[in-house]
Amino acid sequence: MKLVINSLSKTYANGVHALKDVSLTLSNGMFGLLGPNGAGKSSLMRTIATLQEADKGSIFLDDLDVLKNKTEVRQLLGYLPQEFGVYPKISAERMLDHIAQLKGVGNNAERKDLVLQLLESVNLYKDRKKHLGTYSGGMKQRFGIAQALIGNPKLIIVDEPTAGLDPAERNRFYNLLSRLGENTIVILSTHIVEDVSTLCANFAIICQGEVLYAGDPETAVNELNGKIYSKVITQSELGFYKDDYQVISTQLKTGKLHIRVISEAEPDNGFISSIPNLEDVYFSNIATRIDVDTI
Ligand code: ADP
Repeated sequence: MKLVINSLSKTYANGVHALKDVSLTLSNGMFGLLGPNGAGKSSLMRTIATLQEADKGSIFLDDLDVLKNKTEVRQLLGYLPQEFGVYPKISAERMLDHIAQLKGVGNNAERKDLVLQLLESVNLYKDRKKHLGTYSGGMKQRFGIAQALIGNPKLIIVDEPTAGLDPAERNRFYNLLSRLGENTIVILSTHIVEDVSTLCANFAIICQGEVLYAGDPETAVNELNGKIYSKVITQSELGFYKDDYQVISTQLKTGKLHIRVISEAEPDNGFISSIPNLEDVYFSNIATRIDVDTI
């Protein structure tokens, strides 16, 4: 399957230009949509999920015109929104059964099998009788994936799924997501670079409604070979380095400020050549639009 997004634009009634000529092509597998808060990720996800209109452009899932065939698209879609509310006083098992019924799984025995199998696959089987209100953030996210998987979707959209999860929960969620995606397009929207480096075969960086980069993580990182340099400085020197170098990230480690710069030529002045990583790709793209200190 292929999802082809062409020149998609959206301006909200308040004048915010949330999507500017977004064009992307996605195939089966996990695709990371990476960008800071406010970049336009949710606007794009919601448009693909047929929950809001675009002003201009097109989206095709193979031959299916997504913007014109909402009902058909919804039958192929699994969606885990950013704000996934759950009814606190209902057990996971009952809630999934209810959603499966809404999604058209009418046969009782078939639905029961499906629900138990889904609970098993997201590792919530032993907690299936517990009320959703007692679930941790990670358990709620895994429940969200279970409901998104009902009906064997061909396109799965998960919007900022790892925000707010502790490291162990995040790992469990990564394991679950990595099992999807072989015969499905999975779009994972995130502002966490590690989500993309762990999971995604392809990704795009989006900022202020525009696609700044699209490709695969390995190629993106290799393109920066020999161009990333780092140095430990004091806080008060930062202004000077920002004036003279293209600083792409600053990080405090044990009270010292580590800066990374991108440079075609070797900068002297005590800089050390560093192995590039996906954060460098992300920050070097984003830094062209936003000051590094505010990222
Ligand atoms: P992200 O998911 O990357 O954080 P969003 O798509 O939520 O980004 O937001 C992109 C921009 O559009 C932001 O400036 C946001 O404030 C604005 N925005 C999002 N939804 C709406 C809306 N319904 N009405 C007006 N502005 C919106």
